[in-house]
Amino acid sequence: MIEGTKSTSPNFTQQNALLVLETYWNISGTLKPLDSFLDQNFLVKTENGNKYVLKIANIETHDEELDLQNKALIFLESNEIPKVIQTLSGEEMLFYKSHWWRVLSFLDGKMLSVIPYHSDELLYNIGKFSANLSNKLVSFSHPSAKRFIQWDLQYATTLLKNWVHFIKDENIKSEILAIVENIENKSEELNNLRKSIIHADLTRYNLLINEEGTDVNGVIDFGDICYSWSIGELVVLLLESIITESTTPFLDAYKVLKSFHTIFPIYENEVRLLYPLMQLRSAIIVSASARQMSLDPENEYVKKQYLVDKKVFSSLQSSQNLFATTMFMAACGFQMFNKIKLDDFSFILNEKTQLPLIDISPISDIYDDGAFLNDKILKNNIDNYLDNGVGFTEYLTPCLQTVEPTGSELETILLGNYVFLSKNTEVFSPFDMIFLRIENGKSIFKTSYFFFYIRGIYHTLQENQDISKGDTLGFVEQSNGNLNFPNHIFMQIDKSGNAPEKCKPSGVLAWKIICENPAFLLPNYAINETISNNKETLFHKRESLIQQSQEYYYKNPINLVRGWKQYLYDENGQVYLDAINNVAHVGHSHPKISSSACKQFKKLNTNARFLYKENIEYAEKILKYFPPSLQTIFFTCTGSEANDLALRLARCYTNENDIIVIDGEYHGNTTAVDEISTCLMDNPTASKSKRSFTHPLIQPNIFRGKYRENEENVAELYAQDVEEKINEIHSENRGVAAFISESLLGSGGGVEMPKTYLKKVYEKVKNAGGVCIADEVQIGFGRMGTHFWGFEKEDVLPDIVTIGKPMGNGYPIAAVVTTKEIAQAYKEKYTYFNTYSGNAVACQIASTVLDIIEEEKLQKKAFSVGGFLKQELEKLIPEFECIGAVYGFSMYLGVDIVLDKKSRKPDSKKALLICEAMKKMGIIIYPTGDYYNILKIKPPLCFTKENAVFLVDKLREILIQLEN
Ligand code: PMP
Repeated sequence: MIEGTKSTSPNFTQQNALLVLETYWNISGTLKPLDSFLDQNFLVKTENGNKYVLKIANIETHDEELDLQNKALIFLESNEIPKVIQTLSGEEMLFYKSHWWRVLSFLDGKMLSVIPYHSDELLYNIGKFSANLSNKLVSFSHPSAKRFIQWDLQYATTLLKNWVHFIKDENIKSEILAIVENIENKSEELNNLRKSIIHADLTRYNLLINEEGTDVNGVIDFGDICYSWSIGELVVLLLESIITESTTPFLDAYKVLKSFHTIFPIYENEVRLLYPLMQLRSAIIVSASARQMSLDPENEYVKKQYLVDKKVFSSLQSSQNLFATTMFMAACGFQMFNKIKLDDFSFILNEKTQLPLIDISPISDIYDDGAFLNDKILKNNIDNYLDNGVGFTEYLTPCLQTVEPTGSELETILLGNYVFLSKNTEVFSPFDMIFLRIENGKSIFKTSYFFFYIRGIYHTLQENQDISKGDTLGFVEQSNGNLNFPNHIFMQIDKSGNAPEKCKPSGVLAWKIICENPAFLLPNYAINETISNNKETLFHKRESLIQQSQEYYYKNPINLVRGWKQYLYDENGQVYLDAINNVAHVGHSHPKISSSACKQFKKLNTNARFLYKENIEYAEKILKYFPPSLQTIFFTCTGSEANDLALRLARCYTNENDIIVIDGEYHGNTTAVDEISTCLMDNPTASKSKRSFTHPLIQPNIFRGKYRENEENVAELYAQDVEEKINEIHSENRGVAAFISESLLGSGGGVEMPKTYLKKVYEKVKNAGGVCIADEVQIGFGRMGTHFWGFEKEDVLPDIVTIGKPMGNGYPIAAVVTTKEIAQAYKEKYTYFNTYSGNAVACQIASTVLDIIEEEKLQKKAFSVGGFLKQELEKLIPEFECIGAVYGFSMYLGVDIVLDKKSRKPDSKKALLICEAMKKMGIIIYPTGDYYNILKIKPPLCFTKENAVFLVDKLREILIQLEN
């Protein structure tokens, strides 16, 4: 078969094809052409919903090849493999008008290529599925299986030599020739490889995945099936389904291989050839693309494909072979290197040196108050922990280096030790070794088994000079360079010759084998056993100690150790853009807030039955943000308590019990507010806990609600519902106690209500004698941009307002603000006591929050950046089928993910996949709403325009992949 000669492709009309189907298979229905370069394929849908694939082979395809495919499908028979549908006369294929026709059953599923996030579960299942396939195919045989096809790796070098001239890029060309030479030098190893029949095309386009993106539904396209090296199956799978486009390629490959190996054990000689064969396969792909480009130079699609293939090829550097192979060997339980024997070395420092352990991991105090942004302060902070200028950092410690996420994994894990020492400290040679050279300030030495690197010393050694164990190696130099640490050296052992100083967390598994811990070269070092922030341990402890009813964001939750402004940092120093935390309103770890909390803690913090000035001063300050009618405050600790109290106030004032709410809203977790919350996301049992006195109004969402954007008077239509609810209450001889709602539906996903809707509802409720409660717990404190409170934006005047969350920027403080009359009515019947409410520390923090909002003009910023972000998100609506609507206002936004624009059906699975993929790119957003399909975006107000651009760019990248 010769690729690139499209002239031989069949070109039957749909009418013709339908006729053949009906005559020979008795199948009728509708046809949809499917992509195929050489053949002609149709998706067949019958009236009763069955689906088939009609495959009309290229004229040059021999029947033996197709018989090989058919027999394999029949042999493998399972729901994960297409079934061969026989003709009416019992044939597996039909020869008609010079072409072979076949009908196969259709397999449901999404191509792996459109799944933007590969969870551990999916990787495990891909490994398992592929290994089972390999296992089964071992006992399959067919006379035509030993055949020549261009994709069979056994013929790759011959083919490459013929094709390499199609490549115009000289670098790529010489790399390909080097790969050919390398493979040819391994002919003996290759001759010893085990062989069997393999699918040989387990690419991301042929593996079909379930809707959730967690399991393999099946595999299609047996066109490349052949008798070849068994390991060839894994070569294609790992290259074309796992590492391409992954941000953690080798860790993903490790996981798949590990799972594969437990079912279809790989031999050591096979593992050692995996990476070189992946390079070979990639070389074939890029050459085939180049060849295609020269045959069809105007074809834009081919040009684009060449660029993709070139990128993958270039990412598979030969210098990575050792790293990749170490990873693969570890996955299969083979030992790549022997451990260094510890019987022949000497310390690099005077034996009396005492070395305290200095924590430079992201959790360390040295970075507090943004010190990681200021070299001088950071240096001072480390100095404070050193003992007479001496100390060392732990092997494999993560460190914190970048402030912002970059969209990919950062190299944060140190593969050696920093040793802080005074200038001119003498350093000794730990081994008998040869000095090779200095490279980028790093002195490189070689022992008989590994390399030894040391940075930060001066010496007069000559290249290739022998040094004996215990000899003077050099002296500590004055710290300079880009790392403004106190004077230090960095030392590292490397068995590869090209290890980086820092690696990505996903590469640790292999690098820690290649670069052993050099700490044994230090005398008297103190490992501090108390540093324990191992994510697995934390996860399991939390599972066993803390209630399980509260779910995590993400299946594999992020282990957070630090926050700074709009950024969050995990235990490995990976950075995330926090686009979800409206609690950290003015930004994480704002130094003014920690400082005011500390100051107050040092003076006084007691319960609310005493007289102290902090709550009074804060009351005065916050009430200035309220209209004249709302001038009495009750302090609470949480938003739930605030709403709970608001209901009591309303019921006490009106002597009624019934509460009108908006459907899909959440107001908290106490029994009373749970009874009136209807949001299924925060309260999955809402429909059960809702009581007869709770009356939800239809959610006024003009995208998916009862009345849509094209209705006239949509606000009025929705508002009519309140009249109905009031009438219902009255018909049972009861009255309305209150209407409670947010002024922008936060739990609903940030839905802005139709203009004047809230005004109308307030009017009707007040006329019926009820009070109106504005729940500002989520959206208040300037987030709405144009106004400080959401109710002001909707131009309504509530009787009670509840506030919380951003109020203390993460410290628990909340409040109810109401009228003198309502407060008085309550006082006449009840007392109110809440131990921690309005404590002095909380009030100082809350007061500082207000100062920061003003000083940093955060309300204005929320309006401009939020407005810009919304506008950018809205651009995605016409670009992507799954973006239904963008909700919200200013810095409280939601993106509604739908199956398709026409049906507007919520697509929660896609929403979750998007969020998981965003997390991998360093951005935190998460699905919300009753259908878990709205991406909630409500960042700290210090979020910048650049952050907005980054967020939308990455979201767009993921959507392109999803809808490709
Ligand atoms: N009201 C609204 C609108 C909320 O979103 C929440 C919390 N998500 C609450 C009240 C309850 O606040 P808290 O969790 O502080 O009790």
